[in-house]
Amino acid sequence: MAKEAKSRYATLRYNSQELLTDFNEEIQLGRNLSAFVRKANVVTVEDEVLAKIDTIIEKAETILEMFPDQLHMKIVLLKEASDVARVFKEKYGKNVNYVAFYSLSEATIYISVDDVNLAILAHEIGHAIVNHYFKVRPPYNVHELMAQFVEKRIDD
Ligand SMILES: [Zn+2]
Repeated sequence: MAKEAKSRYATLRYNSQELLTDFNEEIQLGRNLSAFVRKANVVTVEDEVLAKIDTIIEKAETILEMFPDQLHMKIVLLKEASDVARVFKEKYGKNVNYVAFYSLSEATIYISVDDVNLAILAHEIGHAIVNHYFKVRPPYNVHELMAQFVEKRIDD
């Protein structure tokens, strides 16, 4: 059964507590970012994951200097890269070996928990913020460069 949990900036979808726990362990924040999470009201693993996600999103906005109104994204946790490939194939009919991707049409991040780390999640969140910020979508290369910029700076 899929579970959904909502934070200020994200709706998280996952299929099992184990997947959520694994995801939480893979997303290790540096000292600066963890300070924000500790201030939040964290009781359950789900609370901790949501607090981490919001912290990463706010840091990514600061890195990009983009603060779009009503920013909200969906994040779907998948077990492994083959699940990401299957979802991508269903949507776009193409075979890929991505560990994560951002669907522009759904404003949704699909991500493999087996492969995830802070940089990968931050990269996809970068795509989501850039997508919400611009009324006219920038060229793909620009979009990608901005996501890479977030990925490199997230832990500064
Ligand atoms: Zn990208």
